Amino acid sequence: MRAHEAGVLHAEAGQAVPSWLREPEDVNLMLPQLWARTVERREDGVVAVGGVPVTEIAAEFGTPAYVLDEDDFRARAREYRDAFAGADVFYAGKSFLCKAVVRWIHEEGLHLDVCTGGELAVALAAGFPPERMGLHGNNKSVTELTRAVEAGVGRIVLDSFDELDRLTAIARELGARPKVMIRTKVGVEAHTHAYIATAHEDQKFGLGLDEAAVMAARVLDEDVLELLGFHSHIGSQIFDASAFEVAARRVLGLQAKIRDERGVELPELDLGGGYGMAYTTQDDPIPVPELAERLRKIMEHECAGYGLSEPRLSVEPGRAICGPTTFTLYEVGTVKQVPLDYGASRAYVSVDGGMSDNIRPALYDASYSATIASRASSAAPVLARVVGKHCESGDIVVKDEFLPADVSPGDLLAVPGTGAYARSMASNYNHVPRPPVLAVADGTVRVIVRRETEDDLLRLDVG
Ligand SMILES: *Cc1c(COP(=O)(O)O)cnc(C)c1O
Repeated sequence: MRAHEAGVLHAEAGQAVPSWLREPEDVNLMLPQLWARTVERREDGVVAVGGVPVTEIAAEFGTPAYVLDEDDFRARAREYRDAFAGADVFYAGKSFLCKAVVRWIHEEGLHLDVCTGGELAVALAAGFPPERMGLHGNNKSVTELTRAVEAGVGRIVLDSFDELDRLTAIARELGARPKVMIRTKVGVEAHTHAYIATAHEDQKFGLGLDEAAVMAARVLDEDVLELLGFHSHIGSQIFDASAFEVAARRVLGLQAKIRDERGVELPELDLGGGYGMAYTTQDDPIPVPELAERLRKIMEHECAGYGLSEPRLSVEPGRAICGPTTFTLYEVGTVKQVPLDYGASRAYVSVDGGMSDNIRPALYDASYSATIASRASSAAPVLARVVGKHCESGDIVVKDEFLPADVSPGDLLAVPGTGAYARSMASNYNHVPRPPVLAVADGTVRVIVRRETEDDLLRLDVG
């Protein structure tokens, strides 16, 4: 089958024809926007990262495995730090956190966001300076808040009046004066390519603008906590900087109101994260320098409008730093041709992982792409669906992808863009041990999170 015929098949299955797939051998292409910087397909057809072929990685460490390009991770962190010079970049640890990542983030000069006691424990265990951390969450426990205050976490982002009461009590008891921000919901709903500039009040995070003003007044009156400013995080996979413009205008309006009513100019402003990354060729992220420039201009313009001196800006990228650094390496176990209604068929390619190592397709209908990584193929491309080994029909790894017709058991398959919210949301469904995270740099592979074993699973089972 010719690629254009495959394209027709793809279109019938409800998918856009991928413009890059012109000739059959194009299924071997490694589109640079989807892969970490040191990933390439070598002359012999094998995909390599940091100079190490995936066949070697699989032979030594097994599959499935998350393979992380350390140079790429550090470069993306640095790119944010450099582009946002004069502002603070908080890496959103929930996207992927382990001790090695904590150290890289520190070495590259970023700050760090955590949102649970567990994430705080990892950050502290790796020696991250607490004053450069922020603590988020809509239901932080007394234990979590106490630990953060005792450790000297640089900012706690208040999310409710209950939490304000709790933190005030803790601060009084400990004789500390923690720095806080107030998380607002600015009425901007950001979704993939679009945002809806109407109030999105009906969700659990943050306080409406009026409530946030009331909370700010209380914090200032009681004077037990130090109020740095307001915080806004409008969502994730945002490709349109104008969503941040609306958010900044509204939060700065609140800032101006506090100045008018209280005579206080709050020194900081956090515009959150959610900057989009490319999971497939459909995604087109804003280059980081351009994003930084847009946000800087927005701040300047809005502050001038309100006659405010500019607060120090902070941003919180998560997926945009760690997401593209990693691919998941699987081994194909079975291939089934499943007939579709209109006479065509789809290859169901089962791999040795699935929804336990990447829940995002099942959770948000997230799209990914895939390629055979252990060889190049000259077979015609066919419509395929990569699925896992779990007992759910929604256990999909890549919903629609072209793979060569000769995809077979034993092939290694790589799925790029799995650095964010894959390992961090991994589960033990079906008692499948979670895969390791392997960091590759300068021709060396290092285990930074080891593979779980059946002994690990049984260790918790004390009945
Ligand atoms: C999740 C989250 C982020 C990071 O989101 P990404 O989409 O990974 O960039 C940043 N800030 C807050 C408050 C978050 O909850």
